[in-house]
Amino acid sequence: MSQDGRDTQANPVSEDGRKPEIKHMEGGRTFNEAHRLEELAPVQSALRPEQAEALLSISALLNRDLNPGRVLYGLISQIKALFHADRVGVFLRQNLMADNEGGLKLDLGPIVCAASLGLSDEYLAAIIAFYENKEFRHLQNLRRPVYIANAQADARLNGLRSLNKQEGFQSVLTLPLLNRENLIGVLDLYHDQARVYSSDEIRLLAIFANQAALSITNARLYEESRRRELDSTRLSEAGRIFNSSLKLREVLHNIALASMKILGNSVMIFIVQDGTVTATPILWDSEIEAPGTIKKVSPLRTTHPIQPGEGAVGKTLQSGVPFFLTERRDILKATAFTRPDEEVNSLVCVPLKAYGKTIGVLASYQITYGSDEVEPLEKRHMALATQLADRAAIAIQNARLYEAEKREQRAKDEFLSLISHELRTPLTSIKGYNHLLYKRLDIITPLEPEEQFKVMDGLRHYTEVIGTQIDRLQSLVEELTSISHIETGKLELKITNIELVSIVQDQIERMEQEFKLARQPRIRHQFELKAVPQIIQANVDPMALSRVVRNLLSNAVKFSPKGGVVRVRVQRGSDETYITVQDEGIGMPLDVQERIFERFYKVNSHPNRANGLGLGLYISKHLIEGMGGRIKVESSEGVGSTFTISLPHIPANPKIET
Ligand code: ADP
Repeated sequence: MSQDGRDTQANPVSEDGRKPEIKHMEGGRTFNEAHRLEELAPVQSALRPEQAEALLSISALLNRDLNPGRVLYGLISQIKALFHADRVGVFLRQNLMADNEGGLKLDLGPIVCAASLGLSDEYLAAIIAFYENKEFRHLQNLRRPVYIANAQADARLNGLRSLNKQEGFQSVLTLPLLNRENLIGVLDLYHDQARVYSSDEIRLLAIFANQAALSITNARLYEESRRRELDSTRLSEAGRIFNSSLKLREVLHNIALASMKILGNSVMIFIVQDGTVTATPILWDSEIEAPGTIKKVSPLRTTHPIQPGEGAVGKTLQSGVPFFLTERRDILKATAFTRPDEEVNSLVCVPLKAYGKTIGVLASYQITYGSDEVEPLEKRHMALATQLADRAAIAIQNARLYEAEKREQRAKDEFLSLISHELRTPLTSIKGYNHLLYKRLDIITPLEPEEQFKVMDGLRHYTEVIGTQIDRLQSLVEELTSISHIETGKLELKITNIELVSIVQDQIERMEQEFKLARQPRIRHQFELKAVPQIIQANVDPMALSRVVRNLLSNAVKFSPKGGVVRVRVQRGSDETYITVQDEGIGMPLDVQERIFERFYKVNSHPNRANGLGLGLYISKHLIEGMGGRIKVESSEGVGSTFTISLPHIPANPKIET
């Protein structure tokens, strides 16, 4: 207790064991009727020596402490006690910014209430708006304490007066917090009964306020540089962890964890898949839902690829520029992956750029579920997110390249084993028949001419089988040559104007001939050819077209294990000529119908999988497209497949041989 009987306890924490209420809140609400505070000449009692002493010791204390929260807390509770203030508020200009040299400087950002005791939220919002409007500028010019004796009646506080009354204070002393002539904030002392300050008190308080401003600035600078140091440690740690794995799933998992440590509590990663311009969501994780667990993007949370320009993610994808949102409504509108009940209070979208290319987008955001405790992301998080994304993108790209390389290697291995199988089968057959031929030739000489004739007939069959197997080898070699031509861009076609129906018919006849030779009448396949009109001229490479038709016919047979009719149609339309090959075979599911034209692709579920290299349709597609045409499939499992080749009447390739 002080001499005048009022409570001067320096730290109210010990008073009743509870911490004083310290409010932090954002400014920015509009308050139209702002009035300047004017300086009033304070008179009355001289400064008490113990006040001076206490102030000096607080200053010394403040200067030693670099924790901004504690500095402010110490400041307002001690001042409140020392000057018997009923309420206290510290209002600061918010931001610290990096300067050009990479250091930190004070930024004149929005005004916030950094700490307060005994002031209502409503009052704080109004006073912040009041300061924000113009009072801060006035105080910056004045650079002196301002005292208002009757805050409830003073006409200059018009607009705040009724609120002041409601709040219950009479007088207020505003001390500017100056750092090198810059107003970094104010310290307000409120008294419920009119309190008159002596000029000595005011002078001392002003000196003290300047000291305090210095301490606050130092503490904030220290805090900011510590945070930056921590951020950069976390960033380099994140980069190290990202590069510790080449497994895409693991890399993504690490990115999610790092991003939730440094940025928002939830993360969504979008990746541009090869050959597309859209970004597909591939990971969603949130600490809020289940800490540390990675959930695959659920159908509820959108799986649809984002188009460039679509929402926040699409805009970042398109422009390569980060996107920052703090309005809940804007966030909901700009994202398909946040839900209204999550009450996301901030979101940052940054591009994932690797080797100069945008390979995706990282969206980090804060789900609050309505809680005030989840601090929104700030502008500074954008820079942080960008740095994190730069490291993440390289790691993602490396993992993708590595996985692609592994896939390619697997495909090559499979290809090699397939090719050896494909070569071995005809070679074994050739070898066997050749051996038989040799044996029979041995026994043929001593025979009677009539007997010789019979044996010769059998020998002819052997040579035919050998011939077919040689054809098979030849077409295999052709396939390999075509692949190498396609891969090196050297596929050359000799397009000529030629009759089409006879080309198709030739291939059907060859096929039938092969069946006869194979002496495999167990499974019956019939071919049916219909041409409208019966003679159709077209601009094609006859050799290439023959190969494509042969491939379609042999697939139709191969994938109709129970036999059936293979219907072939050649039809001249108004702009194009169509060749369709329809079978009654096993068909294929819808999701693989595009993929069967890919290199090495074979439908997993197909029984004849081991037979064939998965190259026929890939080559066919290139050959048909080389002739300016298209090839497509329609198929239904268990019903059959229909392949359609469309060839334009006007040749795409001007290189026509006449
Ligand atoms: P291959 O026949 O040598 O495996 P293709 O490129 O010709 O290679 O065909 C690729 C895959 O497409 C086949 O393995 C098969 O799974 C599927 N396919 C092709 N044609 C048919 C068809 N007519 N019916 C059902 N599936 C087919």
